[in-house]
Amino acid sequence: MPVSDRRTNDAHEAEVARLREAYAALPPGTPVRLAKRTSNLFRFRDASKSSEKNQAATAARGGLDVSAFGHVLRVDPGTRTARVGGMTTYEDLCDATLPYQLMPLVVPQLKTITLGGAVTGLGIESTSFRNGLPHESVTEMEILTGDGRVVRATDDNEHAELFRGFPNSYGTLGYSLSLTIELEPVRPFVHIRHFPFGTAEACMDAVAQIADEGSYRGHRADFLDGTAFAPDELYLTVGAFSDVAPWRSDYTGQQIYYQSIRRDKEDFLTIRDYLWRWDTDWFWCSRPFGVQKPLVRKLWPRRYRRSDVYRKLVALDRRYGLSSVVSARRRLPQREAVIQDVEIPVERGAEFLRFFAANVGMSPVWMCPLRLRGRRAWPLYPLKPGEVYVNFGFWGTVPLPAGQADGYHNRLVEDEVSRLDGHKSLYSTSFYAEEEFYRRYNGEAYRALKRAYDGEGRLLGLYEKCVRGR
Ligand SMILES: Cc1cc2nc3c(=O)[nH]c(=O)nc-3n(C[C@H](O)[C@H](O)[C@H](O)COP(=O)(O)OP(=O)(O)OC[C@H]3O[C@@H](n4cnc5c(N)ncnc54)[C@H](O)[C@@H]3O)c2cc1C
Repeated sequence: MPVSDRRTNDAHEAEVARLREAYAALPPGTPVRLAKRTSNLFRFRDASKSSEKNQAATAARGGLDVSAFGHVLRVDPGTRTARVGGMTTYEDLCDATLPYQLMPLVVPQLKTITLGGAVTGLGIESTSFRNGLPHESVTEMEILTGDGRVVRATDDNEHAELFRGFPNSYGTLGYSLSLTIELEPVRPFVHIRHFPFGTAEACMDAVAQIADEGSYRGHRADFLDGTAFAPDELYLTVGAFSDVAPWRSDYTGQQIYYQSIRRDKEDFLTIRDYLWRWDTDWFWCSRPFGVQKPLVRKLWPRRYRRSDVYRKLVALDRRYGLSSVVSARRRLPQREAVIQDVEIPVERGAEFLRFFAANVGMSPVWMCPLRLRGRRAWPLYPLKPGEVYVNFGFWGTVPLPAGQADGYHNRLVEDEVSRLDGHKSLYSTSFYAEEEFYRRYNGEAYRALKRAYDGEGRLLGLYEKCVRGR
């Protein structure tokens, strides 16, 4: 092992020992939380429970300082692998791998999503139709378990059950401190083509075809995602690695990526700009901040055109309830946040889009096809191996019908997802009753893991965390 690698390893080991001691020293009964700079969760804790004062107290009591686990430990171009701290953002991870012309097999498109967060909370992106989900390219995880041990979990050692049960456990079994992941080679550019569809059925048929054939109308599909602007206006964006680029677009300046989909038939981006094409405008969610208006955009500093900045603004709004006050003053209907990602089998995707247009009516909707990379299912998020799903992502607010309370649209979505044999990610609000929740997310396997790795319940349970929002 080179000397620099040994030093990095020694420093990492020292930090693991320090964190283990800090964890053991937390007074019993105090809630345990990660003291992290960024988050992409959209389950804000109840405002009364999470006032600034309370948060500061929580940080002082249960907040674990994990900043030492926020960098890449090693990139090995020979084996095309990397060993990475669990709290490393994908932005830093890609900055470390791209100089070797390598990237993680799935790169979630928000820059501050961390590798540990994407593995425990199920990230997804436009390589997911061929590479599955981020946890499927992890070969080893070092985990601080709820009962205070640090274990090395792989698919075939004595902690294999934990390894397989970690995805979708949201930090309720333990925290990953380092992960070893596979990488894949990249080319300098991505040549994208936007294909329009006039019906959801035609669009879903094309998704199934591309997942089978790996190309569309002669264009190789290294990447695939889509955008539905209306039931009769949908686009699939198919990307192919390229060594050349006759031109290069830049969507970090005045141009806005999602708007280009409707306008242009094809485009070229550097691989780095492709990976972060959605981050500058948080898909399209920068709209309420005015950043898409030319004048505001010119004045808004470029370094603040990032998803984490917008998310902080939303968090502030939620904490102080500013937009609710404005709506009430103007006698506008109260609005419900409907921020979800759901996975629906491709053959029922058109049905979901029709339901969504009729009952929620938010636009655009992001579409990201996926298929598990491996042949085995993962216990806590039981997608069927071999089956093509489409992840529909929608992030915004809609007015509540008169007489309906908050949760109305989200419940409709949950019911429809169940009816269509789909799955719902748990990073945002959920309303399932406990029994149904554990039926959908394999309560039996989860409880066995909880007993084995957090027997005294030092960490929250999955239902308390994801549904009760504690
Ligand atoms: C608007 C929106 C759009 C989204 N779109 C996408 C998308 O397109 N693609 C995509 O991939 N994802 C998307 N996500 C979901 C995102 O990937 C998950 O929320 C992910 O868990 C966030 O990771 P994070 O690193 O920011 O973790 P955090 O938000 O900090 O934490 C998420 C959860 O994971 C736990 N956790 C964090 N780090 C670790 C660790 N090292 N070990 C164990 N547990 C840990 C935390 O305790 C917490 O429960 C979206 C989320 C939002 C809000």
